[in-house]
Amino acid sequence: MMNQYQSKRQLMVETQIVARGVTDRRVINAMLKVPRHLFVDEALWPEAYEDHPLPIGEKQTISQPYIVALMTELLRLTGKEKVLEIGTGSGYQCAVLAEIADMVYTIERIPAIAKRARKIFDQLKYSNVIIHIGDGTLGWKEHSPYDGIIVTAAAPHPPKALLEQLAIGGRLVIPIGNEFSQDLIIFTREAKDSYTEENYGGCRFVKLIGEQGWRE
Ligand code: SAM
Repeated sequence: MMNQYQSKRQLMVETQIVARGVTDRRVINAMLKVPRHLFVDEALWPEAYEDHPLPIGEKQTISQPYIVALMTELLRLTGKEKVLEIGTGSGYQCAVLAEIADMVYTIERIPAIAKRARKIFDQLKYSNVIIHIGDGTLGWKEHSPYDGIIVTAAAPHPPKALLEQLAIGGRLVIPIGNEFSQDLIIFTREAKDSYTEENYGGCRFVKLIGEQGWRE
């Protein structure tokens, strides 16, 4: 028998994700599986599968389910990839990635938020996730190059370090714009010094704060 969260999750996937055009079966299965409510405070569990972001403390948010699915689909993962996420937040996006990719490295700048995410990764036994506390605008050179890099905070421009740490053929998914609205941009590294750029339309994220992002 389905518990109440499984049926809410199924409804979320049907009405918010598939209905809006996400077709990648791996992404759909991951969204059906990851228990989103466990990534927010218990008081917010009744709202966890609704069509909007939710607060996670420290003025930060867990993204709307659809944007998590869309950004994951745009990485075009097949299961073998090494992915870097900037902005761990609740850890939900990272868990969705960990269901599909081979290995996920994730960076969060706020220690209290990172600590909470680490706890939930341990609880749900995500052994293919490594979290680091620091400035994600500088990437994580040690484990580069990455097949995919996803930035879940708004940047004024693509951080140079992230472009440099992409593998050839790798994709960087990042919201670019001002602090009020951004466009979701995909940079694909075609060759060592050649990138293509595609725009997937408007979105709204909290600020990416760091050396190659916004000042605090
Ligand atoms: N992916 C998250 C999730 O699934 O809950 C949502 C991320 S939230 C919208 C943005 C996060 O980016 C915040 O937790 C914020 O502290 C973090 N952040 C902002 N600038 C950062 C930076 N330079 N490096 C790492 N994390 C950063």
